[in-house]
Amino acid sequence: MQSAALPRAFSRQVLESCPDSCFAVSESLDITYCNNAWDRFAEQNQGSPEFFAARVVARNLLDFIPEDVRKYHADLFKKARVLGQPVSHDYECSSANVFRLYRMQIYPLETGFVIINSRRVEHAHDRTPMEPDETLYRNSTGMIRMCSNCGRTNRAGDRAAWDWVPDYVEHKPDKTTHGVCSPCLEYYYRSSLDSRSN
Ligand SMILES: [Zn+2]
Repeated sequence: MQSAALPRAFSRQVLESCPDSCFAVSESLDITYCNNAWDRFAEQNQGSPEFFAARVVARNLLDFIPEDVRKYHADLFKKARVLGQPVSHDYECSSANVFRLYRMQIYPLETGFVIINSRRVEHAHDRTPMEPDETLYRNSTGMIRMCSNCGRTNRAGDRAAWDWVPDYVEHKPDKTTHGVCSPCLEYYYRSSLDSRSN
């Protein structure tokens, strides 16, 4: 009943002129479209061609989301569908020097969804910077694990210890894996912890 009242699509003109990075996904979360601002955002933040629009369209959104919070994201879309209303989620996308908080707004359409990512907060970091010490951060399998939300780095052999290593945020080290650090899990993905303990 609710979906009958939802728009069929966002106008392409609105999305193309939007300064925020926007994209659309099908009902099964396959990426169907990215706007102009998408590649600018990808270049500034990930800097890797693997995140440019040409490479992500037709792939599933959940493939880009770490396993720890994949269900959390899938549930956000389910919630937007059930409510028939936009649903939002805040996330961090900082550089080595600047803390940046973004809000992802998920708009359910008659079929599929449009997602708009807008910047809410930006200021200098107040975290204690650590040196990129390979002996401290490279684990026994040769990998460095970083939080996909805030960019903190996990200390080898201690899954609960996460440090702010600006050099690793600026130049992603070789052989990196991604997870979500304990503060981010608690603060940004609380409901995924709740569902885990149920
Ligand atoms: Zn984090």
